Amino acid sequence: MVFPFTSLQDFRVEITEEHELFRKMIREFVEKELEPRAMEIEKNNEIPEELFDRARELGLFGIGIPEEYGGQGGGQLLTAILMEELSRVSPAFATAIAVKGLFVVPILLFGTEEQKKKYIPPVARGEKFAAHANTEPEAGSDIAGIKSTAKKVNGYWVINGRKMFITGADKADYFVVSARTSPPPDRKHRWKGITFFIVERDWPGVKVGQKINVTGLRGEHPSEVILEDVKVPEENVLGPIGEGFKVAVETYDHGRIGIAAQAVGIAQAVFEKSLNYALQRYAFERPIISFEGVAFKIADMMIKLEAARLLTYWAATLADQGRKEYVIAASLAKTFATEVAEEASAKAIKIHGGYGVDIETGVERFLRDALITTIYEGANDIQRITIIRQILRQVFGTSLTLM
Ligand SMILES: Cc1cc2nc3c(=O)[nH]c(=O)nc-3n(C[C@H](O)[C@H](O)[C@H](O)COP(=O)(O)OP(=O)(O)OC[C@H]3O[C@@H](n4cnc5c(N)ncnc54)[C@H](O)[C@@H]3O)c2cc1C
Repeated sequence: MVFPFTSLQDFRVEITEEHELFRKMIREFVEKELEPRAMEIEKNNEIPEELFDRARELGLFGIGIPEEYGGQGGGQLLTAILMEELSRVSPAFATAIAVKGLFVVPILLFGTEEQKKKYIPPVARGEKFAAHANTEPEAGSDIAGIKSTAKKVNGYWVINGRKMFITGADKADYFVVSARTSPPPDRKHRWKGITFFIVERDWPGVKVGQKINVTGLRGEHPSEVILEDVKVPEENVLGPIGEGFKVAVETYDHGRIGIAAQAVGIAQAVFEKSLNYALQRYAFERPIISFEGVAFKIADMMIKLEAARLLTYWAATLADQGRKEYVIAASLAKTFATEVAEEASAKAIKIHGGYGVDIETGVERFLRDALITTIYEGANDIQRITIIRQILRQVFGTSLTLM
């Protein structure tokens, strides 16, 4: 047994009939309505409004959000199944549905009852869009390096700063925004002094800047967000003043199971495409699957795909059980699944030969999407740091500074 998992029971994956019925329902929507439009999303770099309308009708925006706040309920495993199934066809659409989690989760974890009642229900119903604005031009992994500031002036917090790579910012009605409310007390405690705020798009000084033209997830582009003397009332402070680092870290701990699931969906997609293609493509008068070089690639894809799926469902099960070990499991799953998705997508291109790099066949786009999963919600090297820190903390009760 591996620390901190001391019992065989720790490795249970709890799938119920409800999960399977849900998966079938999503698969039906995906095959009938999303698949026919996946290449259109890719080409136009835009998700058609009708797909958001259908997502509203199906209640997809509310999955994972408690019913008392207007959601459909369901835990991390149900949310992971949704992400996986959507990503199998359109990882960009999956991100568009899921990104509101980075707004809702910190409010659920740290918000006041008033904040929960005001901001979560319209987002859970898909009536309002929401985004998470933490990354800055000079600070991504190093959250403590953010430069945005919030100063108390005449009873309001006044925010100034610039945020980068904010997914869904172009559509967002609401944001959670991080800013420095006090300088770090010393070098060892650089993470102290950051605070999160809930900010509305319509407030004076909030500007959504240029869209950032990233390689993948076309259709759900990140943008810059500029904050110029934005006045935020005291009741929109999210969580304790100066403890925003904790808000960010706990939010990403939840979110990264979804990214692992997104990667599983990508790996599933390229596995299916590779298998089908290798069966019907002939070379030297034989289907190419009869060549060991091709067959072994497909077998390797499946080995890693199923391992990634199990890791992801396991992390989600631990989270649904309220086990603190889910944090390490989520990092294991995110790192492994996203690297499996990247490797499998590259293999899929090779199996498809020239058609693999023909944009029209829709194979290469999965590699571009997979690359992003290895970066956002905590780059994979940061996950590796989390894994080591969690082992040391949970098993030996000690902490370590890794550079
Ligand atoms: C498509 C997309 C969407 C995004 N959406 C959002 C969003 O909605 N909201 C938001 O706030 N942010 C968002 N981000 C930002 C994302 O979270 C950051 O890009 C990510 O955290 C990495 O930060 P960085 O880009 O500044 O890279 P850096 O932190 O500069 O890292 C660069 C490289 O250095 C490595 N590195 C850094 N520190 C260490 C270390 N201590 N040990 C080992 N290696 C290290 C990293 O692993 C990486 O390989 C998005 C990014 C992308 C690409």
